[in-house]
Amino acid sequence: MIQIENLHFAYPGSNGALLNVANLRVAPGEKVMLRGPSGSGKSTLLNLMAGILKPQSGRVCVCGEELVPMSESAARDFRANRIGFIFQDFALLEYLTVADNILLPYRINQSLTLNTDVHARAQRLLNDLSIAHKSAAFPTRLSFGERQRVAIARAMIASPQLILADEPTANLDKANALKTIELIVSSAAHNKAGLVVVSHDESLDTYFDRVVDMAQYKHA
Ligand code: ADP
Repeated sequence: MIQIENLHFAYPGSNGALLNVANLRVAPGEKVMLRGPSGSGKSTLLNLMAGILKPQSGRVCVCGEELVPMSESAARDFRANRIGFIFQDFALLEYLTVADNILLPYRINQSLTLNTDVHARAQRLLNDLSIAHKSAAFPTRLSFGERQRVAIARAMIASPQLILADEPTANLDKANALKTIELIVSSAAHNKAGLVVVSHDESLDTYFDRVVDMAQYKHA
């Protein structure tokens, strides 16, 4: 699912590499947590896995595609078709209804085609995540938990093979953090998708097959 080899990454203008990843593999359907303190490069590594950032050297192969040589537009299409992103702040558009927020990837990516199958899948996700009754509501009228479910549904709508979640529990209390992780893990499993979640919270480890410690990728 993910193979990263001999990767070196530095932000322009910084002195020295931020990340040195000799070898990182994630198997299909595997649930992995990326853990490390703030500033250890967790978000950066997630962006490298999504082809949003490119390393100075090394290989990044995700869902059978080599990301480093890809053009920007090919990488955008790749993300639209293969990857579901869950952002910490959910990134919902306030002027779109719940249903339209979930379908947003189909409105902004020309490589995705909105058809009756997709509408049926949206309806199924609305039901599975218990937000069907809010389908015509705008995000400002939703509870926090409902907004989160919309974000998860949107990440799942294109049936991605890989879900990437950047600190999805950072702003939550313990009970809500556990609920959120349970929801993300079960949604990914239901869709047979691989899952990489960034967190600094050790109490969430049990939900994952493996914890990857960012310390090993630090520049010596
Ligand atoms: P984490 O997700 O573990 O908190 P990040 O990947 O966000 O870490 O950031 C790692 C380091 O890279 C930090 O020191 C941060 O300031 C720096 N960094 C992040 N984004 C940029 C950027 N666009 N340009 C330069 N430096 C950045």
